[in-house]
Amino acid sequence: MKRFIEPRLDRFQHTFLRESLDESIGSDNPVRVYDFILSRHDWAEWEGEYPGGGRPSYPPDVMCKLLVYGYSRGIRSSRQLEYACRNNRDFIWLMSGLTPDHDTIADFRRRHILRFKGVFRTTVGACVEAGLVDMKHVAVDGTRVEANNSRRKTGTLSGLKLMLKAIDDRIEKILREAEAEDRREDELYGEGVSPNELPDELKDLTKRKDILEKALRKAQAKTEGAKGMKGKRKDDAEKKRAPYTDPDADVMKDKKGGFAPNYTPWIAGDSKRGIIVGEGVTNDHSDAPHFRDAIEEAEDTTGLEVEQALADGNYPTTENLEYCEEKGIDPCMAPLKTNLERKATKCKHPWPDDVPERAVHADGGTVDGRSIPRGKNGKFDKSAFVYDEKNDRYICPLGHPLTRSGGVRGKRAMYQCKKCKDCPFVKVCTSSMSKRRAVGREADAAIHERHALRMLDDKKLEDYKLRRRTIEPVFGTIKGPQGLRKFLLRNLDYVRGEWSIASAAFNIKRFANILRLANKLAVA
Ligand code: SF4
Repeated sequence: MKRFIEPRLDRFQHTFLRESLDESIGSDNPVRVYDFILSRHDWAEWEGEYPGGGRPSYPPDVMCKLLVYGYSRGIRSSRQLEYACRNNRDFIWLMSGLTPDHDTIADFRRRHILRFKGVFRTTVGACVEAGLVDMKHVAVDGTRVEANNSRRKTGTLSGLKLMLKAIDDRIEKILREAEAEDRREDELYGEGVSPNELPDELKDLTKRKDILEKALRKAQAKTEGAKGMKGKRKDDAEKKRAPYTDPDADVMKDKKGGFAPNYTPWIAGDSKRGIIVGEGVTNDHSDAPHFRDAIEEAEDTTGLEVEQALADGNYPTTENLEYCEEKGIDPCMAPLKTNLERKATKCKHPWPDDVPERAVHADGGTVDGRSIPRGKNGKFDKSAFVYDEKNDRYICPLGHPLTRSGGVRGKRAMYQCKKCKDCPFVKVCTSSMSKRRAVGREADAAIHERHALRMLDDKKLEDYKLRRRTIEPVFGTIKGPQGLRKFLLRNLDYVRGEWSIASAAFNIKRFANILRLANKLAVA
């Protein structure tokens, strides 16, 4: 009896594939799904880029399939893709044996980068047709992905100015040397017959100067905001750094807890089967202002209307809530906590000995003072005061009214209580010398209160759980198996294209997994 399994193939056999290349790829191999879905895309615009004549080009559909399939397998570098085309059976099948070199692959990606948005849309179209998308619950969220810019290649305003000055000096020196060389050659060969062109270094320096100038403009914009600031805040603003390898990126807090040049990609995911229905990238620190873009893109791509929008606590801004009300979308977002509310949960102040723990409520009952939320300063938090819309006043924890006092400060109206003087809680309610507790109300408070009230519904809380279940697998797959933790390309437009490729790859991967599962169940 043999101890070990015998080799299946003889290395010197003339062919190792079975009858055909196609037969060597199983019928359930996901590469077939990539080929099938991407073959549905309209390639006319891509093909129009190649007028013909000269050496034939690689077909754009085949090259695009290579990139999307490569991104789904975590193979993104053009050299690795070139290797895969020569050595991986599934890639050989997908490419029908074509083997473009890495320069061709990289050039193709750069040349067509803005068109990958259309490819992403095709993948969404296929998912809609297959019934994998219903747009009943659409979750919107963003993440951080590192830019192709080292952490060290960032500069402050003063640092960038010094670097630019060094480049200007170097350019001037090269021009002076070139002029002297021209004069010397004029003397040797006669005027106008100079065989020399401007040195390559000058071209590189000019390009570098353009990039640094872009970074400098960004750093200047950041310090603009520091005007009028004093002391540490001004120093901090002036110390802010701008990336100069990819000046479109920005230094932001990343998921590892540090700061690095990053972009903020976002997605809109349909919770029925976790398909991405909208995607984009911003270089803003927050993705919340792009909520409207995400919803509009999702509706435009699928041709369906969003019923409920799920998002985390950064999203229910006044603009986003107003947009939802206008569009008739049900916003299911964690209510936006004010700074005071955040601090209220962290109050460490002990209850003062000379303040009673209980007091009589205006309606005759008693109130436990300790159970009233207190802010960081130890005083009753604003969340303990209830707004009475009908009478335009607040009601304090002891049931006394706070009425409008004075005018409106900025966008806030102020309300004051006139019963504080004799209140046993006055010491833990206000530090005002006048012994009158005041509460401010922002002009947009009503929309937030309506939203917070809606979110108390148990059904809403159940729906809110869908957000995590929809979003986390998407970012987990793109950053995990697909390996997109850092963009390969630079500049916002290119980065957007790369994110579209990754999103298209995710959708087809998801489609293939669902199909495989359905087939398994059908066989069972
Ligand atoms: S101090 Fe004034 S506002 Fe505060 S609980 Fe007492 S009566 Fe109400």
